[in-house]
Amino acid sequence: MSIQTGGSQTIETIAVIGAGTMGHGIAQVAGASGYKVYLTDVDRETLARGVKSIETNLNKGIQLGKLTEDDRDRTLQHIHGTTRLEDCAVADLVIEAAPEKLELKRAILSQLEAASDKNFLFASNTSSLSITEIAGSARRPELVIGMHFFNPVHIMRLLEIVVGLNTSESTVQAVSEVGRRMRKEPIIVKDVPGFASSRLGVALGLEAMRMLEQGVASARDIDTAMELGYNHPMGPLKLTDLVGLDVRLHIAEYLHRELGSETFRPPEVLRRMVNEGKLGKKTGEGFYDWRAEKEEVRRANPS
Ligand code: NAD
Repeated sequence: MSIQTGGSQTIETIAVIGAGTMGHGIAQVAGASGYKVYLTDVDRETLARGVKSIETNLNKGIQLGKLTEDDRDRTLQHIHGTTRLEDCAVADLVIEAAPEKLELKRAILSQLEAASDKNFLFASNTSSLSITEIAGSARRPELVIGMHFFNPVHIMRLLEIVVGLNTSESTVQAVSEVGRRMRKEPIIVKDVPGFASSRLGVALGLEAMRMLEQGVASARDIDTAMELGYNHPMGPLKLTDLVGLDVRLHIAEYLHRELGSETFRPPEVLRRMVNEGKLGKKTGEGFYDWRAEKEEVRRANPS
Protein backbone atom coordinates (compact mmCIF):
# COMPACT_ATOMS: atom_id res chain seq x y z
CA MET A 1 0.00 0.00 0.00
CA SER A 2 1.35 3.43 -0.89
CA ILE A 3 0.53 6.19 1.54
CA GLN A 4 1.01 9.78 0.46
CA THR A 5 1.74 11.74 3.59
CA GLY A 6 1.10 15.24 2.35
CA GLY A 7 4.79 16.11 2.71
CA SER A 8 7.60 14.80 0.56
CA GLN A 9 7.59 11.36 2.20
CA THR A 10 5.74 8.35 0.88
CA ILE A 11 5.73 5.46 3.31
CA GLU A 12 5.21 1.97 1.88
CA THR A 13 7.74 -0.14 3.71
CA ILE A 14 8.47 -0.08 7.43
CA ALA A 15 11.41 -1.83 9.12
CA VAL A 16 11.18 -2.61 12.82
CA ILE A 17 14.52 -3.13 14.57
CA GLY A 18 14.30 -5.46 17.57
CA ALA A 19 11.60 -8.14 17.88
CA GLY A 20 11.28 -8.06 21.68
CA THR A 21 8.38 -6.85 23.82
CA MET A 22 7.78 -3.69 21.80
CA GLY A 23 9.19 -4.53 18.37
CA HIS A 24 6.92 -7.47 17.59
CA GLY A 25 3.86 -5.43 18.65
CA ILE A 26 4.89 -2.52 16.41
CA ALA A 27 5.42 -4.92 13.49
CA GLN A 28 1.95 -6.37 14.11
CA VAL A 29 0.13 -3.01 13.98
CA ALA A 30 2.21 -1.91 10.97
CA GLY A 31 1.37 -5.15 9.11
CA ALA A 32 -2.30 -4.85 10.04
CA SER A 33 -2.32 -1.30 8.60
CA GLY A 34 -1.21 -2.55 5.19
CA TYR A 35 2.47 -1.63 5.28
CA LYS A 36 5.10 -4.03 4.04
CA VAL A 37 7.11 -4.83 7.17
CA TYR A 38 10.61 -6.12 7.83
CA LEU A 39 11.06 -7.25 11.43
CA THR A 40 14.65 -7.83 12.46
CA ASP A 41 16.51 -8.98 15.54
CA VAL A 42 20.12 -9.96 16.15
CA ASP A 43 18.83 -12.97 18.06
CA ARG A 44 17.23 -15.66 15.87
CA GLU A 45 15.21 -17.13 18.74
CA THR A 46 13.79 -13.76 19.80
CA LEU A 47 12.81 -13.13 16.20
CA ALA A 48 10.98 -16.48 15.99
CA ARG A 49 9.30 -15.81 19.35
CA GLY A 50 8.27 -12.33 18.18
CA VAL A 51 6.64 -13.67 15.00
CA LYS A 52 4.90 -16.40 17.04
CA SER A 53 3.56 -13.79 19.50
CA ILE A 54 2.09 -11.81 16.60
CA GLU A 55 0.27 -14.93 15.44
CA THR A 56 -0.97 -15.63 18.99
CA ASN A 57 -2.24 -12.05 19.38
CA LEU A 58 -4.06 -12.25 16.05
CA ASN A 59 -5.63 -15.62 16.94
CA LYS A 60 -6.84 -14.12 20.21
CA GLY A 61 -8.39 -11.29 18.17
CA ILE A 62 -10.27 -13.91 16.12
CA GLN A 63 -11.49 -15.69 19.26
CA LEU A 64 -12.79 -12.37 20.60
CA GLY A 65 -14.60 -11.72 17.32
CA LYS A 66 -12.53 -8.60 16.59
CA LEU A 67 -10.68 -10.04 13.58
CA THR A 68 -11.42 -12.46 10.77
CA GLU A 69 -9.10 -15.22 9.59
CA ASP A 70 -8.55 -13.13 6.46
CA ASP A 71 -7.37 -10.18 8.60
CA ARG A 72 -4.89 -12.47 10.36
CA ASP A 73 -3.57 -14.00 7.14
CA ARG A 74 -3.23 -10.61 5.42
CA THR A 75 -1.34 -9.15 8.38
CA LEU A 76 1.03 -12.12 8.57
CA GLN A 77 1.68 -11.97 4.82
CA HIS A 78 2.88 -8.37 5.21
CA ILE A 79 5.49 -9.23 7.84
CA HIS A 80 8.93 -10.58 6.88
CA GLY A 81 11.29 -11.69 9.63
CA THR A 82 15.05 -11.37 9.08
CA THR A 83 18.23 -11.36 11.15
CA ARG A 84 20.03 -9.23 8.55
CA LEU A 85 19.87 -5.50 9.24
CA GLU A 86 20.80 -4.85 5.58
CA ASP A 87 17.42 -6.28 4.50
CA CYS A 88 15.89 -3.22 6.17
CA ALA A 89 17.71 -0.84 3.83
CA VAL A 90 14.65 -0.81 1.52
CA ALA A 91 12.46 0.78 4.24
CA ASP A 92 10.96 4.25 3.94
CA LEU A 93 10.50 4.37 7.71
CA VAL A 94 12.60 2.54 10.29
CA ILE A 95 11.16 2.12 13.78
CA GLU A 96 13.89 1.17 16.21
CA ALA A 97 12.89 -0.88 19.29
CA ALA A 98 16.31 -2.13 20.42
CA PRO A 99 17.43 -1.97 24.09
CA GLU A 100 17.51 1.40 25.84
CA LYS A 101 21.17 2.31 25.15
CA LEU A 102 22.09 5.53 23.38
CA GLU A 103 25.23 4.15 21.72
CA LEU A 104 23.35 1.10 20.40
CA LYS A 105 20.58 3.22 18.88
CA ARG A 106 23.13 5.54 17.26
CA ALA A 107 25.08 2.56 15.91
CA ILE A 108 21.93 1.04 14.37
CA LEU A 109 21.16 4.34 12.65
CA SER A 110 24.73 4.59 11.27
CA GLN A 111 24.65 0.99 10.01
CA LEU A 112 21.36 1.63 8.22
CA GLU A 113 22.70 4.86 6.71
CA ALA A 114 25.70 2.91 5.39
CA ALA A 115 23.44 0.20 3.93
CA SER A 116 20.76 2.43 2.40
CA ASP A 117 20.90 5.13 -0.25
CA LYS A 118 17.35 6.22 0.61
CA ASN A 119 16.40 9.20 2.71
CA PHE A 120 14.50 7.02 5.18
CA LEU A 121 12.79 8.34 8.30
CA PHE A 122 14.23 6.98 11.54
CA ALA A 123 11.91 6.78 14.56
CA SER A 124 13.11 5.56 17.93
CA ASN A 125 10.70 3.92 20.38
CA THR A 126 12.92 5.06 23.27
CA SER A 127 11.04 5.69 26.50
CA SER A 128 13.63 8.06 27.99
CA LEU A 129 16.60 8.88 25.75
CA SER A 130 16.95 12.21 23.96
CA ILE A 131 15.93 12.12 20.31
CA THR A 132 18.28 15.05 19.63
CA GLU A 133 21.19 12.99 20.99
CA ILE A 134 20.20 9.89 19.02
CA ALA A 135 20.20 12.12 15.92
CA GLY A 136 23.58 13.61 16.94
CA SER A 137 25.63 11.82 14.33
CA ALA A 138 22.87 11.28 11.75
CA ARG A 139 23.36 12.13 8.07
CA ARG A 140 19.92 13.77 8.02
CA PRO A 141 18.94 14.72 11.63
CA GLU A 142 15.74 16.32 10.33
CA LEU A 143 14.49 12.79 9.52
CA VAL A 144 15.00 11.49 13.08
CA ILE A 145 12.06 11.46 15.50
CA GLY A 146 10.58 9.57 18.46
CA MET A 147 7.59 7.23 18.08
CA HIS A 148 6.88 6.11 21.64
CA PHE A 149 4.40 3.23 21.63
CA PHE A 150 2.93 1.67 24.77
CA ASN A 151 2.80 -1.93 25.92
CA PRO A 152 0.96 -4.00 24.67
CA VAL A 153 1.25 -2.16 21.38
CA HIS A 154 -1.74 -3.78 19.65
CA ILE A 155 -4.03 -2.62 22.47
CA MET A 156 -2.70 0.70 23.80
CA ARG A 157 -3.92 3.65 21.71
CA LEU A 158 -1.44 6.35 22.68
CA LEU A 159 1.46 7.24 20.39
CA GLU A 160 3.78 9.90 21.79
CA ILE A 161 5.61 11.59 18.94
CA VAL A 162 8.79 13.17 20.23
CA VAL A 163 10.21 16.07 18.25
CA GLY A 164 13.98 16.55 18.44
CA LEU A 165 15.66 19.94 18.07
CA ASN A 166 16.40 19.28 14.39
CA THR A 167 13.34 17.19 13.44
CA SER A 168 11.52 18.71 10.43
CA GLU A 169 7.81 19.48 10.31
CA SER A 170 7.35 17.11 7.34
CA THR A 171 8.83 14.27 9.42
CA VAL A 172 6.34 15.05 12.22
CA GLN A 173 3.49 15.04 9.69
CA ALA A 174 4.62 11.81 8.05
CA VAL A 175 4.90 9.76 11.25
CA SER A 176 1.66 11.24 12.64
CA GLU A 177 -0.09 9.97 9.53
CA VAL A 178 1.52 6.54 9.94
CA GLY A 179 0.37 6.51 13.58
CA ARG A 180 -3.22 7.32 12.59
CA ARG A 181 -3.15 4.53 9.95
CA MET A 182 -2.12 2.23 12.80
CA ARG A 183 -5.23 3.45 14.68
CA LYS A 184 -3.16 5.21 17.30
CA GLU A 185 -3.85 8.64 18.76
CA PRO A 186 -0.69 10.69 18.20
CA ILE A 187 0.30 13.44 20.62
CA ILE A 188 3.18 15.77 19.76
CA VAL A 189 5.71 16.35 22.54
CA LYS A 190 9.01 18.24 22.82
CA ASP A 191 12.19 16.25 23.39
CA VAL A 192 12.41 16.78 27.17
CA PRO A 193 13.22 14.16 29.87
CA GLY A 194 10.20 11.94 30.54
CA PHE A 195 8.35 13.40 27.52
CA ALA A 196 4.68 13.89 28.59
CA SER A 197 3.55 10.41 29.62
CA SER A 198 6.40 9.28 31.92
CA ARG A 199 6.74 12.67 33.58
CA LEU A 200 3.09 12.81 34.60
CA GLY A 201 2.65 9.08 35.27
CA VAL A 202 5.79 8.80 37.41
CA ALA A 203 4.91 11.96 39.38
CA LEU A 204 1.55 10.43 40.33
CA GLY A 205 3.13 7.09 41.26
CA LEU A 206 5.80 8.68 43.48
CA GLU A 207 3.23 10.87 45.29
CA ALA A 208 1.11 7.76 45.95
CA MET A 209 4.19 6.11 47.54
CA ARG A 210 4.82 9.16 49.73
CA MET A 211 1.18 9.04 50.87
CA LEU A 212 1.62 5.36 51.74
CA GLU A 213 4.78 6.20 53.75
CA GLN A 214 2.87 8.91 55.64
CA GLY A 215 0.04 6.48 56.46
CA VAL A 216 -2.57 8.55 54.62
CA ALA A 217 -4.35 5.38 53.43
CA SER A 218 -3.65 1.78 52.44
CA ALA A 219 -2.24 0.94 48.98
CA ARG A 220 -5.60 -0.43 47.92
CA ASP A 221 -7.48 2.68 49.11
CA ILE A 222 -5.02 5.08 47.44
CA ASP A 223 -5.51 3.17 44.18
CA THR A 224 -9.29 3.09 44.62
CA ALA A 225 -9.25 6.90 45.03
CA MET A 226 -7.87 7.23 41.49
CA GLU A 227 -9.87 4.36 39.98
CA LEU A 228 -13.31 5.38 41.24
CA GLY A 229 -12.79 9.10 41.86
CA TYR A 230 -10.87 9.94 38.67
CA ASN A 231 -11.80 7.04 36.39
CA HIS A 232 -8.22 5.80 36.01
CA PRO A 233 -8.43 2.19 34.79
CA MET A 234 -5.77 1.24 37.35
CA GLY A 235 -4.40 2.93 40.48
CA PRO A 236 -0.79 4.26 40.49
CA LEU A 237 0.55 1.65 42.94
CA LYS A 238 -0.88 -1.33 41.11
CA LEU A 239 0.49 0.13 37.87
CA THR A 240 3.93 0.44 39.50
CA ASP A 241 3.70 -3.27 40.41
CA LEU A 242 3.01 -4.12 36.76
CA VAL A 243 5.76 -1.87 35.34
CA GLY A 244 8.30 -3.08 37.93
CA LEU A 245 9.53 -1.12 40.97
CA ASP A 246 13.13 -1.29 39.69
CA VAL A 247 12.09 0.22 36.35
CA ARG A 248 10.19 3.01 38.13
CA LEU A 249 13.12 3.73 40.48
CA HIS A 250 15.47 3.99 37.51
CA ILE A 251 13.17 6.47 35.73
CA ALA A 252 12.59 8.49 38.94
CA GLU A 253 16.36 8.83 39.50
CA TYR A 254 16.83 9.90 35.90
CA LEU A 255 14.02 12.51 36.01
CA HIS A 256 15.19 13.78 39.43
CA ARG A 257 18.67 14.32 38.02
CA GLU A 258 17.62 15.77 34.65
CA LEU A 259 14.70 17.99 35.74
CA GLY A 260 16.17 18.94 39.14
CA SER A 261 12.72 18.72 40.70
CA GLU A 262 11.96 17.29 44.18
CA THR A 263 8.77 15.81 42.70
CA PHE A 264 10.93 13.04 41.27
CA ARG A 265 13.14 12.29 44.32
CA PRO A 266 12.61 8.52 44.83
CA PRO A 267 10.70 7.88 48.10
CA GLU A 268 12.42 5.74 50.76
CA VAL A 269 9.78 2.99 50.48
CA LEU A 270 10.62 2.53 46.79
CA ARG A 271 14.38 2.19 47.43
CA ARG A 272 13.79 -0.20 50.33
CA MET A 273 11.46 -2.47 48.37
CA VAL A 274 13.82 -2.62 45.39
CA ASN A 275 16.72 -3.53 47.74
CA GLU A 276 14.56 -6.30 49.22
CA GLY A 277 13.86 -7.67 45.72
CA LYS A 278 10.16 -6.76 45.89
CA LEU A 279 9.89 -5.59 42.30
CA GLY A 280 6.14 -6.06 41.79
CA LYS A 281 4.26 -8.66 39.78
CA LYS A 282 7.37 -10.17 38.18
CA THR A 283 8.82 -11.21 41.58
CA GLY A 284 5.44 -11.98 43.16
CA GLU A 285 5.55 -9.12 45.65
CA GLY A 286 5.30 -5.36 45.44
CA PHE A 287 2.67 -3.02 46.85
CA TYR A 288 0.35 -6.03 46.34
CA ASP A 289 0.89 -9.74 46.85
CA TRP A 290 0.96 -11.45 43.42
CA ARG A 291 2.25 -14.84 44.57
CA ALA A 292 -1.05 -16.72 44.26
CA GLU A 293 -1.53 -15.43 40.70
CA LYS A 294 2.06 -16.36 39.77
CA GLU A 295 1.57 -19.87 41.13
CA GLU A 296 -1.64 -20.24 39.10
CA VAL A 297 0.18 -19.22 35.90
CA ARG A 298 3.04 -21.63 36.71
CA ARG A 299 0.60 -24.51 37.22
CA ALA A 300 -1.18 -23.70 33.94
CA ASN A 301 2.13 -23.66 32.01
CA PRO A 302 4.34 -26.45 33.39
CA SER A 303 7.68 -26.46 31.55
P1 NAD B 1 13.42 -6.03 24.60
O1 NAD B 1 14.67 -6.31 25.33
O2 NAD B 1 12.21 -6.84 24.86
O3 NAD B 1 13.71 -6.12 23.01
C1 NAD B 1 14.83 -5.55 22.41
C2 NAD B 1 15.30 -6.49 21.31
O4 NAD B 1 16.30 -5.84 20.52
C3 NAD B 1 15.94 -7.78 21.82
O5 NAD B 1 15.20 -8.89 21.33
C4 NAD B 1 17.36 -7.76 21.26
O6 NAD B 1 17.84 -9.04 20.86
C5 NAD B 1 17.21 -6.83 20.07
N1 NAD B 1 18.46 -6.19 19.63
C6 NAD B 1 19.53 -5.81 20.36
N2 NAD B 1 20.46 -5.24 19.56
C7 NAD B 1 19.95 -5.25 18.30
C8 NAD B 1 20.45 -4.82 17.03
N3 NAD B 1 21.65 -4.26 16.90
N4 NAD B 1 19.66 -5.04 15.94
C9 NAD B 1 18.46 -5.64 16.05
N5 NAD B 1 17.94 -6.06 17.23
C10 NAD B 1 18.68 -5.86 18.33
O7 NAD B 1 13.13 -4.47 24.82
P2 NAD B 1 11.72 -3.70 24.75
O8 NAD B 1 11.08 -3.76 26.08
O9 NAD B 1 10.97 -4.15 23.54
O10 NAD B 1 12.22 -2.20 24.56
C11 NAD B 1 12.70 -1.72 23.33
C12 NAD B 1 12.68 -0.20 23.34
O11 NAD B 1 11.34 0.24 23.58
C13 NAD B 1 13.53 0.44 24.44
O12 NAD B 1 14.08 1.61 23.95
C14 NAD B 1 12.51 0.72 25.55
O13 NAD B 1 12.91 1.79 26.38
C15 NAD B 1 11.30 1.10 24.72
N6 NAD B 1 9.98 0.93 25.36
C16 NAD B 1 9.72 -0.20 26.12
C17 NAD B 1 8.44 -0.35 26.68
C18 NAD B 1 8.08 -1.59 27.47
O14 NAD B 1 7.03 -1.58 28.15
N7 NAD B 1 8.85 -2.66 27.42
C19 NAD B 1 7.46 0.64 26.48
C20 NAD B 1 7.75 1.75 25.69
C21 NAD B 1 9.03 1.89 25.13
